[in-house]
Amino acid sequence: MSRVRVRFAPSPTGALHVGGARTALFNWLFARHHGGSFILRIDDTDTERSTPEALSQILSSLRWLGLDWDEGPDIGGPFGPYRQTERLEFYREAASRLLAAGRAYKCYCTPEELAAQRAEARRLGKPVAYDGRCAHLSAARQAALEAEGRKPAVRLKVARDRAVVLHDLIRGEVVFPGEVLEDFVLMKANGLPTYNFACVVDDHAMAISHVIRAEEHLSNTPKQVLVYEALGHPMPLFAHVPMILAPDRSKLSKRHGATSVEEYRADGYLPEALLNYLALLGWSPGGEEEFLPLEEMVARFSLERVSKNPAIYDQRKITWMNGHYLVWADLERVTRLCLPYFQKLELVGAPPTEAEWKKLKEVVGLVRDRVKTLREVAEASTYFFHDRFDYDPKGVARHFQVPGRAALLARVRERLAD
Ligand code: GLU
Repeated sequence: MSRVRVRFAPSPTGALHVGGARTALFNWLFARHHGGSFILRIDDTDTERSTPEALSQILSSLRWLGLDWDEGPDIGGPFGPYRQTERLEFYREAASRLLAAGRAYKCYCTPEELAAQRAEARRLGKPVAYDGRCAHLSAARQAALEAEGRKPAVRLKVARDRAVVLHDLIRGEVVFPGEVLEDFVLMKANGLPTYNFACVVDDHAMAISHVIRAEEHLSNTPKQVLVYEALGHPMPLFAHVPMILAPDRSKLSKRHGATSVEEYRADGYLPEALLNYLALLGWSPGGEEEFLPLEEMVARFSLERVSKNPAIYDQRKITWMNGHYLVWADLERVTRLCLPYFQKLELVGAPPTEAEWKKLKEVVGLVRDRVKTLREVAEASTYFFHDRFDYDPKGVARHFQVPGRAALLARVRERLAD
């Protein structure tokens, strides 16, 4: 295999979700398994939705998970820059080349005109694809349209009389009939590239060997194949990893519980538990065992063992796994990680005294095998620190007010003390 170079290319439009984290993990495992490079590229050309906060949260989630990158926006590298908004000249140059070669053309249609074309096609029962009306404009006509103040988009000329065939490492041969394609936009009228264009220009420029990404991008891939062909670039290998669905087989969303890495961190999950769980979403190590340390995953990871079938996200299972990792982890470390939760409940000082720290460690050691998260360790430990208890008022009414019960408990206490 030629040198393995893979990339994770998030769009900084929100937090890193479990699906994105799983894609990053598969890329990372693949790179580490083959002694290749894992590249972080930021796909931020959707300038309206991209934010610096989302970017810094994605980076911090990846760091927390321990998925370190060899090249990226913060550390640079030989194929930089690693943010698409800093690479606009690459896309413009590639678009000019396609225009000059007659593989692409300028389109002056406005959004309103395009909407009208689509409505008309629908009315006539014709395929709703761009009708190519700008493909053969004369230079004079183009000049006239520009004089009107119109800014052109750039569209690729697509031959729709043939199918695009993709050999996906996970899904096998996937055929996209020509009718589903159209002369799609490479560069928008605002001078920014579309995802499908920028992705190909960058994956080529960054010498990406394998594109491992979510299945939702499978439908984009024929367009990307056509761009590779038009630019005369060799293609990377593609591997589309299966979708992650909720237990009811619907799209995984907020209502199914925590979905962002940051939420798991804040709720007191350990990164190794999350990584272990995510690795098993679509990949099978080939044995029965479910608990795999990271080095073991690196040693065993292969795309051949990634399934085509959707993976079902099971919140209880990840919590259960976390409970195990909580018990196995180094006590000093777990205590340190639990500390903020104890401080939040004001059970220890910030910073804790030496005596508090010692007690804390003992408490964590006792409680951690009865709960599942760092947060729960603190919540289940309050009785070690004070005698104030919040009783359920209904329980108080039912049990505490029974005549003679206080005396009975006093006797129990005496016996126990003996
Ligand atoms: N920015 C795209 C995304 O976040 C990248 C897809 C790809 O890996 O090509 O989904």
